[in-house]
Amino acid sequence: MFGFGKNKGEPAKAGAATTPAAAAPAASIPRGLMVGRMQDWQLTVDKVLDHAKANHAHREIVTRSVEGPIVRETYGDLYARARQVSAALLEDGVVPGDRIATLAWNSGNHMETWFGTMGIGSVLHTVNPRLFPEQIAWILNHAEDTHLFFDLTFIPIVQKIHSICPMVRRYVLLTDEGHMPRDTGIPNLVSYERFIAGKTQDVTWGGFDENTAAGLCYTSGTTGNPKGVLYSHRSNVLHTMFSLQKDCMGLGVEDTILPIVPLFHANAWGITFSAPAVGAKLVMPGAKMDGESVFQLLDSEKVTFSAAVPTVWLMLKQYLEETGNTLPHLKRVVIGGSAVPEAILKTFEDKYEVQVFHAWGMTEMSPMGSMGSTVPEFMARGTDAVQKNKLKQGRAPFGVEYKITDDDGKELPRDGKSAGHLLVRGPAVAGSYFKGDGGQILDKDGWFDTGDVANLCELGYMQITDRAKDVIKSGGEWISSIDIENFAVGHPAVANAAAIGLPHPKWDERPLLIIELKPGASASREEILNYLNGKIAKWWMPDDVQFIDKIPLGATGKINKLSLRQTFKEHKLPTIQAAE
Ligand code: AMP
Repeated sequence: MFGFGKNKGEPAKAGAATTPAAAAPAASIPRGLMVGRMQDWQLTVDKVLDHAKANHAHREIVTRSVEGPIVRETYGDLYARARQVSAALLEDGVVPGDRIATLAWNSGNHMETWFGTMGIGSVLHTVNPRLFPEQIAWILNHAEDTHLFFDLTFIPIVQKIHSICPMVRRYVLLTDEGHMPRDTGIPNLVSYERFIAGKTQDVTWGGFDENTAAGLCYTSGTTGNPKGVLYSHRSNVLHTMFSLQKDCMGLGVEDTILPIVPLFHANAWGITFSAPAVGAKLVMPGAKMDGESVFQLLDSEKVTFSAAVPTVWLMLKQYLEETGNTLPHLKRVVIGGSAVPEAILKTFEDKYEVQVFHAWGMTEMSPMGSMGSTVPEFMARGTDAVQKNKLKQGRAPFGVEYKITDDDGKELPRDGKSAGHLLVRGPAVAGSYFKGDGGQILDKDGWFDTGDVANLCELGYMQITDRAKDVIKSGGEWISSIDIENFAVGHPAVANAAAIGLPHPKWDERPLLIIELKPGASASREEILNYLNGKIAKWWMPDDVQFIDKIPLGATGKINKLSLRQTFKEHKLPTIQAAE
């Protein structure tokens, strides 16, 4: 039987404490109050998979593998193989608190790595492969990952970064021996199947405090360097329970779920835990998320529930309209990560009879923050009113609290009009970032400022009206406006620069760059774009450049983006026509 190794100092300091099973929390209960007499059943995520194995061992996990074929396994298989991952990691010297990174699509192998890592008290760190290699290397180094599991798709990225990631001492390619490429130059490389082959399943899972760190996910939706959100076992288990509420994801054993939203986007919105918790069949899309590939899986696997950002639904909508295909099996979809466009909502509900739930959330919230369930008061008002209301971001599930405040921190009324800073609280909301980056992120009452600007109505519906944080979201991925601006002001003719996100039918938002030229200087749109070319990732390139006499500044001297968004709200990006 494998046991735990010695805990390392740093991860514990950083929040990855691995204390033995806690005694009943009597010590923290003030004198005079009675201590409840219930069992001390620590909320650790290994119990989710224990439960799936005991109760849903025959339900399937189907993967469209990166290698091509459809691969099928059951929760029983997943449990067995995840335990072999644990044994392989322990044999490879991994100790509780170590961070194990993945650069991988949604697949059964990824899920096995997920539970195999968390089960032994190590931290599963999902890395977003859509970042550029230098950012990925920065994140791996910051997290001090010891192992990197990756898909065949990402060999070129790993080839670029392995020499600058000295802490990674093992690379595991998520494939079998038959697909191992030769001469990659990647050191200490082993195939996943070889890594776990012949390993025992006789390992100990759990048995540590529920506040032990389980997962790590960096977000670029903040200013400065990406920040790590360090989920605990407890936060994941509680998030699973509240996301399963009928008015939230409402999943059940009869569901077949296609999480198109990647595991590297905050636990695929928690589905990695909620699907096994209820024994829903899982369909993992691998690398392909275009309309045709998504349709094939929806159809062949009779998917009933799916979740993705609006861009994915737009691609599916276009495919369905071109081919005349329909969606006879799909019942409900969750659309979030960006605001749901009305055309998508109406097409899926009216034409394809699929119920659309608009969700809002954040990496920092594990991530579910709202769900657009319909309260009885709206049901009575008819379909148009219900659909119009669904364009709002939705209501808080139990486990999430909201507060809207003005700039001075004064709470605003829930009147559906007064917009202010949206603050949240809850057991699955970050209390601080990994290693304490960004300092204190909660106010004195424990509220976290989301950086979103919103209003709340008396029925509890939250509507995002703007964003106070300085980032642009394109196709569900963040673009740093500050990085674009910093490069733009390097141009000799530029006095000041501001990048803002403007609405785009395919990508939700695309960057517009606004330039204030130096007195007497001149530069054309093309000159500015040519100057940026090669300095930032291609998909970060502004879709347009506009010139303005004076970039407005706020009281503290910062660029007033709210005012710029107002000024340019009618501006149509030249890329819009091509997307329509
Ligand atoms: P992330 O941490 O990458 O999930 O990004 C979280 C941010 O995405 C939120 O703070 C919002 O700014 C934005 N976001 C997420 N869902 C929605 C939505 N349904 N409508 C508008 N913005 C959204």
